[in-house]
Parts: sequence; C-alpha cells; structure tokens
Amino acid sequence: SGEASAADRIVQHSEQARAKAQKRFALEQELRGAIAKDEFVLHFQPVMDTQLGRVSGAEALIRWNHPDRGMIPPGLFILMAEEAGLIDQIGLWVMRDACRQAAAWEGDIRVAINLSARQFLDKDLDAHVAAALSESGLSPDRLELELTETVAMVDHDHSRSTLTKLRDQGLKLAIDDFGTGYASMSSLRKLPFNKLKIDREFVSDVDRLPQSQAICSAMIALGRGLGMEVLAEGTETSAEVDFLRAGGCSLFQGFHFARPVASADLATTIAALDQRNPDYRMAG
Ligand code: C2E
Ligand code: MG
Ligand code: MG
Ligand code: MG
Repeated sequence: SGEASAADRIVQHSEQARAKAQKRFALEQELRGAIAKDEFVLHFQPVMDTQLGRVSGAEALIRWNHPDRGMIPPGLFILMAEEAGLIDQIGLWVMRDACRQAAAWEGDIRVAINLSARQFLDKDLDAHVAAALSESGLSPDRLELELTETVAMVDHDHSRSTLTKLRDQGLKLAIDDFGTGYASMSSLRKLPFNKLKIDREFVSDVDRLPQSQAICSAMIALGRGLGMEVLAEGTETSAEVDFLRAGGCSLFQGFHFARPVASADLATTIAALDQRNPDYRMAG
C-alpha cells in the first residue's frame, strides 16, 4: 500500500473530521426530534439504606431509546444536548416524568434527579420544580436534586439563594460526584445540602487501597459532621460495602445492590432487595 504522503494524510484527516462533524450534526438533528417523538426514557437505580435494611430511594438516569441505535447512555448525548441548547427542555421532561412516576411508587421512596448547570442557573428553576410537584402530587420531601460541585460553585450567591429557596420548598439537595469538582470547605459550610454522594472513583477498591480509604473515611466524617447524609456511589462488591459501613456510611448505590433498571422492573427489584437485606438491619 506504500506510505501516504503528508498531503494525503491531511486530506484523509479532514475527510475524517468532516465525516465526524456530519455524524454529529445528524445526531443533533435527531436529538431535536427525540423530545417530540418521546424517545427518552428514565431508568432508575435503587439506593440501599443499610441501617434500615431496605431501599430508601432511586436515582432517575436518562437514556435515549433510539429507533436504530438502541439505548444510548447519557454520557453520549447530554453534553451535545447542552451545546445544542436542548438541555432545558430535556431537563424539564426528566423532572416532570420522574415526579409523575415516583408519585405512583409504593412507600415513601425518594426519587433523585440530576440537574445540569444550565437548569440550575435558570431563574425559573423553583417555579419548574413547584409545577412538577403540583401536577404529579409528589410530596416535596420525596424529590431530591443532584448537583455536581462544579455546577454548585459557578456562582456562589446564586447557589446560596437558589438552594435555600428549594430547601424551603421542602426538597432534598445532594452533591453528586463529590471529590471530583471544586467544592471548597467554605462553600460546603455555607450551602444547605442534605447529602453528599462520594464519587465512584474513591469507592472502587476502597477495601484494598489505603489512599481511597483515607479519602472515603475523611469524606464520611466531613459529611456527617456537617449533618449531611453520606452515600457511596458505584459500590460493586460486598468488601467495599463492608469497609464503608464500618466507617459510618449507610447509603449505597451501585451494581453490588442493583443496576439501573427500566421503570417496569423497579418494583420487583426493590422488593427483592428489601427481602434479601434484612440482615443489614440486624447488624445496625
Ligand atoms: P451520575 O449522576 O453520577 O450517575 C451515576 C452513574 O454511575 C450512572 O451512569 C450509573 O449507571 C453508574 N453506576 C451506578 N452504579 C455503578 C457501579 O456500581 N459501577 C459502575 N461502573 N457504574 C455505576 P449513567 O446512567 O450512564 O449516567 C452517567 C451520568 O449522566 C450521570 O452520572 C449524570 O451525571 C448524567 N445524567 C444521567 N441522567 C441525567 C439527566 O436526567 N440529566 C442530566 N443533566 N444528567 C444526567
Ligand atoms: Mg447523579
Ligand atoms: Mg454521581
Ligand atoms: Mg459519577
């Protein structure tokens, strides 16, 4: 085949770039239609409370059920949705659908949703939340909003007043992916969060890695000391769960307990977890 000349390589490179841009453009066009065509679905991942020995909540995780490409995970389209200015619409749909579904769940299980930066900066956020709650009939204390540290830190004054308004409505507020962003101790002290979600990065192999152990133990102590609930994300093994429980963490979300499931399978998944884990209740 011989060696391609520099010129050939440049042509090849620009053709690849053009193909990539075209594919991206096509996907963006499809994304615009996806809302109208009702192609988004929420999957739910249970949150296990090992102190109660039962599931106490579930996180709503969006998927794009694409007619040809199948289930597309959020990592492949959320950023594009943000850049294309579509995240507000998608985020509103998520909020309304999550509230609608959770209102029909049995028990007092909470639903958590993820907020994008743009949604959080929207000055109508509290009105959107109030509307989603009233149209679904969901009690405010059963809705939890998850923000990453970076999103919460964009504008400190905005964060404080927005979060306070949401807390006053009775909502729960969680810091997502904790430890991977820019939260300062000063902001943690001032912002009214209820829950800290330790990122999977620190949780995986926490039973074996002294560095992760030091970080998780410090985060658990920090969260609890500030009066927050502490949840470990991405727990995949019982060894990880055992280590974190011994350190005072009692909320777990991860493949060890359950993967995210379609809403049709949520009730059976929760019932199975509740059945299987009363031993946690005994152990405290
Ligand atoms: P996240 O909010 O941190 O959600 C947790 C992610 O970790 C989910 O990925 C979940 O499937 C995955 N996960 C849970 N347990 C385990 C485990 O034990 N092992 C491993 N390897 N992974 C685990 P998913 O569903 O692909 O979502 C990725 C991210 O996309 C979310 O991270 C969140 O930042 C974003 N996202 C999801 N839904 C929405 C949404 O409705 N709106 C916005 N703005 N972002 C969303
Ligand atoms: Mg989340
Ligand atoms: Mg997370
Ligand atoms: Mg994460």
